[in-house]
Amino acid sequence: MNPEEKKIVLDKIAEQVKACQLCPLYKGTTNGVPGEGNPNAEIMFIGEGPGAKEDELGRPFVGAAGRLLEDLLKHVGLTRNDVFIANVVKHRPPGNRDPLPEELAVCWPYLQKQVEIIDPKIIVTLGRHSLGRFVPGKVISKVHGQPFRINGRIFFPMYHPAAALYSGNLRPTLFEDMAKVPKVLTQIKKEEIANTKKEEKKELPKLF
Ligand code: URA
Repeated sequence: MNPEEKKIVLDKIAEQVKACQLCPLYKGTTNGVPGEGNPNAEIMFIGEGPGAKEDELGRPFVGAAGRLLEDLLKHVGLTRNDVFIANVVKHRPPGNRDPLPEELAVCWPYLQKQVEIIDPKIIVTLGRHSLGRFVPGKVISKVHGQPFRINGRIFFPMYHPAAALYSGNLRPTLFEDMAKVPKVLTQIKKEEIANTKKEEKKELPKLF
């Protein structure tokens, strides 16, 4: 799929999210928050769920945690337009409570479809809910900053930026972990080139 085709499908998903009533979360919200960014992104950042500002504007990570996410992106030479940013639940849980398992389950196909369309090289999970959905059974304090390969895709767990707003000592950890993301990306690309070369060699018929 080329970037224009990807954008058309992503826009369709966004429309469905905005109209979604599959779980009660939509009640009392102003906007669904499908996610946004580059349809061809190599990196997706997946947070937990919209907060008050996100609900008001219908855009992900536009409040205080979003400003820190933007600083983290800048730290590695990226902007929001280079990546795709979304959440595991698309409507704001009341009072910013944790999403319930049934809300996470019902919302999951939207995110799965976004991942399938964008097909990023890395999914950076922000916080424990996102980690739990993509890399189940791991504890964030043990695995943050370490890449995992699952079914051929690389997942990179990080603390949620909001956690660093409450606990200042997580801030340097977030920046250190973020600095590893481009390195992991470079490694993935090297592996891809090596694998393509191997495949090309395999395809050469033995003529003589
Ligand atoms: N926290 C999240 O997890 N997602 C947002 O979009 C904003 C804050």
